[in-house]
Amino acid sequence: MKNGSIAVTGSSRGIGAGIARELATRGFTVGCLSRGGLLPEGSDTLGRESRDRLIPIACDVTDEAALSAAFRNLAERTGGIRGLINNAGVHADHRAHAMATAEFEAVMRTNSTAVFVACREVYPHMVERGRGIIVNIGSFFEKLAPKGSAAYCASKAAVGALTRCLAAEWAMKGISVLAIAPGYVETDVNREFLNDPVRGAHVRSRSFLRRPGEAGEIARLVAALFVEDIPFLTGETIFVDGGHGISL
Ligand code: NDP
Repeated sequence: MKNGSIAVTGSSRGIGAGIARELATRGFTVGCLSRGGLLPEGSDTLGRESRDRLIPIACDVTDEAALSAAFRNLAERTGGIRGLINNAGVHADHRAHAMATAEFEAVMRTNSTAVFVACREVYPHMVERGRGIIVNIGSFFEKLAPKGSAAYCASKAAVGALTRCLAAEWAMKGISVLAIAPGYVETDVNREFLNDPVRGAHVRSRSFLRRPGEAGEIARLVAALFVEDIPFLTGETIFVDGGHGISL
């Protein structure tokens, strides 16, 4: 517990819950941030030791003061912060001509601005340790043009840009900044869409593997980055999409 922890935002369900469970299983202490301050779904399936490594913290990532307090609290309880996974994200399905500015900004606020703020607020904790790894969860939509997703795509492109820029500024402080851009991963957000006989079948046909990803596949990559701890790997966005983004 006193060797530092990894904070995961949006860890109550979906990909974030998978990441939190995987990190705990590999022996890391995990700060589990979500608005409700819930334990990650599925944590009851973990062994007692792994479950005890999960620390639920109520935190809305759009609230700067809450983010700052959550990191302070976590650092005090666990002896510092060694990692941050910016996973919390929202999607709004709206054609651009009918999208209100407030809707556009709400998506940018959670998916991009909160990523910047969380990185800035965790920075002093990582500088104090002399090493830290930040993994921002983007999306393969950052390079695609799906109709109805202008705000979401813009917000995820910003994640890639932030990742590169912060990596450049913070490398000499021992902080690696990376992004993971998943393809379709079945979660509550898209289960109905992915199981639709027409739309879901189209998505499957685009993946080299003819299936969406699993949260556990993203989680294992995140955990591997912490287990292997490769400082020279920084500033990069790693696409994990079964080939969908390069499929003809
Ligand atoms: P889910 O909707 O299943 O989970 C979203 C998580 O984010 C929840 O734990 C939710 O917690 C949390 N969250 C949302 N808003 C806030 C907020 N303001 N403050 C704190 N936590 C918040 O999403 P997914 O697991 O599907 O997606 C996770 C990430 O992966 C997102 O960034 C998404 O854009 C990205 N992604 C997902 C893909 C997919 O196909 N599923 C594909 C590519 C990228 P709570 O409501 O309890 O606060």
